[in-house]
Amino acid sequence: MDTYDVAIVGAGPIGLELAVALKRRGVSYVQFDARQIGQTMSWWAAQTRFFSSNERIAIAGVPLVTVDGGKATREVYLAYLRGVVMQFGLEVRTYEPVTEVRRLEGCFELATTRRGVAERTRARRVVLATGGTDRPRRLGVVGEDLPHVSHYFREAHEYFGRRLMVVGGKNSAAEAALRCFHGGAEVLFSYRRKVLPAKSIKYWILPELQGLLDANRIVPLMETEVASISESEVRLRHADGLERGHAADFVLLMTGYEADMSLFRLLGVPLAEGTQAPVFDVRTMETGVPGVYVAGTAAGGTQDRFELFIENCHVHVDRIVRHITGEGVNAGVNGGATYALPES
Ligand code: NAP
Repeated sequence: MDTYDVAIVGAGPIGLELAVALKRRGVSYVQFDARQIGQTMSWWAAQTRFFSSNERIAIAGVPLVTVDGGKATREVYLAYLRGVVMQFGLEVRTYEPVTEVRRLEGCFELATTRRGVAERTRARRVVLATGGTDRPRRLGVVGEDLPHVSHYFREAHEYFGRRLMVVGGKNSAAEAALRCFHGGAEVLFSYRRKVLPAKSIKYWILPELQGLLDANRIVPLMETEVASISESEVRLRHADGLERGHAADFVLLMTGYEADMSLFRLLGVPLAEGTQAPVFDVRTMETGVPGVYVAGTAAGGTQDRFELFIENCHVHVDRIVRHITGEGVNAGVNGGATYALPES
């Protein structure tokens, strides 16, 4: 069995950018993704625009150009990623989840499943670029899995003329509420706090949402928590301690997403309490386990206050490549630091 220099797990923007960098330097590598490239963006609602500007999410030196110069939509960015893969002839083993990984003498062995057949691959180093938003943050309430309830907002059209309850209070909830309101839905907005978190919602979204809530055009249900959901209503626990039922045809639980840190755990990487962010050397991105690196937003685990985005993870690629190729640590990158939690 051949042993690659590097196995990259994850083919989001930073995983792909790393693949290009390794290929350019002639480092042998293999790349897996449990699903498709850019999986996180693929479940965003149709036509969702990035918050980051194009040059900040462009990868591998390939310009990301939009017709109007505006921020890329999900569709444009996914097409861009496909173009990068084609341009550099990257071989991504998509729909091939890494189910197990273990350390052998001088290398790692990764177990994957491809078209139902078990495969084994060896690499001297493993880079985990598995992202920070693998699965929805569940509420654990009765009715959460009913067919009219979802953690994913896909399309405002689905809710046209119907009564929709949006739960949550940050960007996903705010965007979904506004887009569905403009798409002709009757929107109720349940948030567990008294006021919207102004610092956490983009400045071009907050005023409109606040205005519509103040005018009761989007129905504010502040200081409420979901107690249970049935086919006809959502029972909310209000600030007075009482539960009340609110009729709803659909429910969008925009309560955030969690990272899947299971491969870090299998490899014995120390993880921070709470966020489960891996401990790593900020100069090299190597984790507390020699030969195991982290790249991209997985470095933040499940982020509470979002500080790591595509736009500030490009540096991970340079750090990893320099360490792997022995080019040395970039002077000025947190010189002198040893192990640390992600930079703020
Ligand atoms: P988030 O920032 O983690 O916010 C989750 C929201 O759900 C918070 O308001 C939180 O309440 C609430 N919540 C969490 N657990 C809850 C529970 N058990 N019961 C009730 N409420 C609960 O998640 P997000 O809004 O999905 O955003 C995730 C990331 O995606 C962010 O970086 C965001 O900026 C980004 N995003 C990007 C775009 C775009 O690029 N267009 C669009 C949307 C989101 P608290 O406020 O009390 O914590």
